[in-house]
Amino acid sequence: MAKEIIIATGFYDIPYKLNVPGEELPKVTHYYSDPHFYAFQKVIVVGAMNSAVDAALEIWRKGAEVTMVIRGSSIGERVKYWIKPDIENRIEEGAIKAYFNSSIMKITPETVEVITPEGIKIIDNDWVIAATGYQPNLKFLESAGIVLSDDEVRCPVLNPETHETSVKGIYLAGVICGGMNTHRLFIENSREHAEKIIRAIASR
Ligand SMILES: Cc1cc2nc3c(=O)[nH]c(=O)nc-3n(C[C@H](O)[C@H](O)[C@H](O)COP(=O)(O)OP(=O)(O)OC[C@H]3O[C@@H](n4cnc5c(N)ncnc54)[C@H](O)[C@@H]3O)c2cc1C
Repeated sequence: MAKEIIIATGFYDIPYKLNVPGEELPKVTHYYSDPHFYAFQKVIVVGAMNSAVDAALEIWRKGAEVTMVIRGSSIGERVKYWIKPDIENRIEEGAIKAYFNSSIMKITPETVEVITPEGIKIIDNDWVIAATGYQPNLKFLESAGIVLSDDEVRCPVLNPETHETSVKGIYLAGVICGGMNTHRLFIENSREHAEKIIRAIASR
């Protein structure tokens, strides 16, 4: 039996759903990987944060016809500062079409219905990439007995020096340490977790 366990499960486990008819169709995905797959096809990207913007730009650069459906009135403020002007300029020149203040109402095998400030648009469509964000699987941590904060962040309770949880011998590393606050930690500021954990284990 393992004496020590390190959990580093990130926060991409549970996508936020669109909750619209047709979301279960095989052309709809919450996980984007290879832009070449979408070349020369009609793709809708939902969302306006880093994942949506990266997907839209990469797929458009592989020759796809890309339409973004964005709930708010602009590209997300937290989009990387060197990427944001790229997407804004592609939208402004019309290379990538974007519907702001808009939401998907329905997805069919051939189309997507979008409610926009100008009314309902029916868009021909091959693929939908719903880059609508994710939540960490905190139930998994709780099922291991790990205590979470009782506020809305549900932050796992950790010893900040060792990253050991409330369960002796179980440590957390990476983004999962932030609970529902999934923007607080990223690659650069999580590397120290591994160092702390290994130091703690080695000193036992
Ligand atoms: C488009 C995009 C661009 C990004 N750009 C940057 C950037 O420029 N700089 C930066 O710092 N960060 C960036 N990030 C964020 C970065 O990817 C995350 O901060 C980082 O991956 C988190 O690392 P992690 O090890 O905590 O979790 P993850 O990298 O998510 O790794 C978790 C792993 O655990 C596995 N897993 C989950 N549950 C289980 C289970 N029950 N059993 C077994 N395995 C499981 C998963 O399959 C996965 O392999 C970006 C993210 C995205 C989506």
